Amino acid sequence: MASRANHRFLLECALLCAAALLCSDATIVGAAEGQSPNPVAASNFPIATDARLAGDAKQTRFVLDLDKTIQFRAFALADPYRVVVDIPQVSFQLAAGTGSAGRGLIKAFRYGLVMPGGSRIVFDLTGPAVIANSYVLEAANGQPSRLVLEFEEVDRTAFVQSLTPESRPELRPAIAEAVATPVAVEVAVAPKPSAPPDLRPVVVIDPGHGGVDNGTQAGGESEKNLVLGFGLALRDRIEKSGKYRVVMTRTDDTFIPLADRVRIAHNQSAALFVSIHADALPRREGDAQGATIYTLSDRASDAEAERLAEAENKADAIGGVNLTEEPTEVADILIDLAQRETRTFSNRFARLLMGQMKTTVRMHKHPLKSAGFRVLKAPDVPSVLIELGYVSNKGDLEHLVSENWRSRTVGSMAQAVDAFFAKRLATAAPAN
Ligand SMILES: [Zn+2]
Repeated sequence: MASRANHRFLLECALLCAAALLCSDATIVGAAEGQSPNPVAASNFPIATDARLAGDAKQTRFVLDLDKTIQFRAFALADPYRVVVDIPQVSFQLAAGTGSAGRGLIKAFRYGLVMPGGSRIVFDLTGPAVIANSYVLEAANGQPSRLVLEFEEVDRTAFVQSLTPESRPELRPAIAEAVATPVAVEVAVAPKPSAPPDLRPVVVIDPGHGGVDNGTQAGGESEKNLVLGFGLALRDRIEKSGKYRVVMTRTDDTFIPLADRVRIAHNQSAALFVSIHADALPRREGDAQGATIYTLSDRASDAEAERLAEAENKADAIGGVNLTEEPTEVADILIDLAQRETRTFSNRFARLLMGQMKTTVRMHKHPLKSAGFRVLKAPDVPSVLIELGYVSNKGDLEHLVSENWRSRTVGSMAQAVDAFFAKRLATAAPAN
């Protein structure tokens, strides 16, 4: 039951992602037919102005101040212990660092967009706890509207019982249906009868993290924003030649589960998948710098690659996706064979990237590595993950926010894409 609910959730995410990806087309078609574009204006979203914690390790209260009342749904996740609260899309205007320090039963909390129209707050708990009481207060006596959650310590048995499907609401943002654009989707997916099929190779660009998941952070810069800006610049550069169709896994600050990113690459029959990230090294582990290119492997090429894959694979837990309900991988000989070929292409692209990037970009001292990244697991799509640099390193951070550096890096990556497809097409042609 629970498993099915989660699959449905992931599927809906994927559909909404697809809707988001197709939105630009839909808007054009819609406008041509005199329909109004997306009805949700940014200024209409409720605004959260303050969030605070009170209480102790037995009972902890969370209060979110808002400019209007909202609906919400809460559910718990185990291993690690989390409570997820889905709310309509909210404009969070909270002080920097809000949620990073915990109190009582709450270790920390994060907030952000989880899909168009839906925001999410994810609480990391110090141990098993349930929401004993939750309500929304209307503005009164000079106080703003407030969302109040009261956490109470329980034992693991009681916590696990609270996870039963009957007591758990659907894993779906509270207001998603209100802003879903089924009409736009229909318009977008209906094939235009006169348009010839687009046979260009599809390149999927995957800016890491997003929404509720910030990725690594340093000096006021979030990985999710840095890699989104970079990904969009890379898209523009690759699209310029007209030789490829570029699909983004996200074009705004939305959380996308790892499995959905993989699914987008597979469903688009992508010829290449490029995941964009930025790393950070904990201060106690010294300093590291430069870009690194990662491919998928069962065994990590070194301890740093292993640490990084572990950190990147945590994205789902950070975004409030239940890891225990992920579908298990199918051990199939055909998939295995496809994977082997895919890995050969992945490695070829990684080497081409390395060849191009090292002439313009500062690379890590071991720039080619591999590890078990979940986002690289499409069995049929050559995939690489690029860590552009370390936000924990002063020089790298300066590069990451520099327009000039971005432009040079994007240029060298686009050349590697050209080289990759030139070789593929050349080797494919004589076989015909
Ligand atoms: Zn990352």
